[in-house]
Amino acid sequence: MRAAVLEQAGSPLVIRDVPRPEVGPGEILLRVRACGVCHTDLHLAAGDWRLPKLPLVPGHEVTGIIEQVGAEVQELKAGDRAGIPWIYWSCGSCEYCLANNEPLCSKLQVTGYTVDGGYAEYLKAPATHCIPLPEGIDFVSGAPLYCAALTTYRALKISGARLGQTVAIWGVGGLGHYAVQIARAMGLRVIAVDILESKLDFARELGVDFTVNAKEKDSVKTIKKAGGADVVINLAPRAAAIEQGFQTLRRGGALVLVGLPPGNFTLPIFTTVAKGIRILTAAVGTRQDLREVLSLAAEKKIHSVCETVPLEEVNSVFRRMEEGQITGRVVIEFP
Ligand SMILES: [Zn+2]
Ligand SMILES: [Zn+2]
Repeated sequence: MRAAVLEQAGSPLVIRDVPRPEVGPGEILLRVRACGVCHTDLHLAAGDWRLPKLPLVPGHEVTGIIEQVGAEVQELKAGDRAGIPWIYWSCGSCEYCLANNEPLCSKLQVTGYTVDGGYAEYLKAPATHCIPLPEGIDFVSGAPLYCAALTTYRALKISGARLGQTVAIWGVGGLGHYAVQIARAMGLRVIAVDILESKLDFARELGVDFTVNAKEKDSVKTIKKAGGADVVINLAPRAAAIEQGFQTLRRGGALVLVGLPPGNFTLPIFTTVAKGIRILTAAVGTRQDLREVLSLAAEKKIHSVCETVPLEEVNSVFRRMEEGQITGRVVIEFP
């Protein structure tokens, strides 16, 4: 089968033939129809993080049709439409798994990171972690729901935001375009913040209440004047965005960190404590979060804005991603 393979950190992916995986008991084989290109894949390919496996097939926003099921698989059958998220496998019995926090499972296996992922014609996975794709969602629109939408859904869910409150979302890229829609579906007032006018235009098309260009010198003041934010979701890969977002928070507000800028950030301890600010993080979500976000999409409360490319173009997608030239999500589509 064809796959895009990372052979060495920092070098382009190589399109080549690799052996098709064989399913064992409890596993399914997915014929991949679509796989989203996530910023995480760019980090992995660039060698920004330690790579537990090389060569590696990246890709963790995978949808397709189940081609084959192994022995002992009961819930899924050949011909089912399904997808595989970042969490390839979690143990289901450690303290984190039992406390609705399976992303922290110490035995976690990760699609396209610790095991091969979806930049390939076929992918095998544990049936327990393969989540059905609801009717009415096509493979391409469905793929980014398995990471980009899921992560922002989790971020908003844990933020404690309540009906009518204000959320400011920093960064209207692949994740951000879902964040603004999910926030609206939750009945929140949405402020979209970005440094590119094109992304702010995009946010307005998605129906946000208010946009702010973070490059403008009064951007923090503008948000405070508009009442400030009860919740700030940071999806931007800049530490300055976190510090800026913090300044716009109302008393008792929550800062949810999702984006991964290099380096560190600094926050004033006194203000954080005195204002009762909660600092939270979200990295992907649980299988239950995923089922919830898939339902939102099936009910047309959120939709994916994506463009499709063939597998061969993945390296050029990485380049465009680095330059911030992508609107919504790019999805690799398989014929
Ligand atoms: Zn991702
Ligand atoms: Zn566990």
